[in-house]
Amino acid sequence: MSMDSFFGSLFDMVENNNSEVDRCPRCGITFGDFKSTGLLGCSYCYEHFSKSLIPTIKRVQGGLVHVGKIPMNASKEVVSKRKIDELKIRLRELIALEDFEGAAVVRDEINVLKKNLEVGEQNAE
Ligand SMILES: [Zn+2]
Repeated sequence: MSMDSFFGSLFDMVENNNSEVDRCPRCGITFGDFKSTGLLGCSYCYEHFSKSLIPTIKRVQGGLVHVGKIPMNASKEVVSKRKIDELKIRLRELIALEDFEGAAVVRDEINVLKKNLEVGEQNAE
């Protein structure tokens, strides 16, 4: 896997719609372009797009995102979905910290949880 597609797959996991129209000031590609092609337009792109993720992390650390408690009677599905949300926040933090090894581990955890959720939904039918 090339480094560009590695970053691309990480950013695919991070749902940040505001960044879709964010443009690299040097080469002009958008975050959406980057996500769809997995290719950076220039050496500044990564730096620029990673900065655009940081305000999200600051909001989380500032406590404005209230995670709340999971009710005792919450279904397994709800618990898994909450866990995925928490992991996505963690993934953003790791990307911002440029800890790509850690980010890859978290990404894999999210994939496993998502797969389990899909299996659960199929069994419920
Ligand atoms: Zn660029």
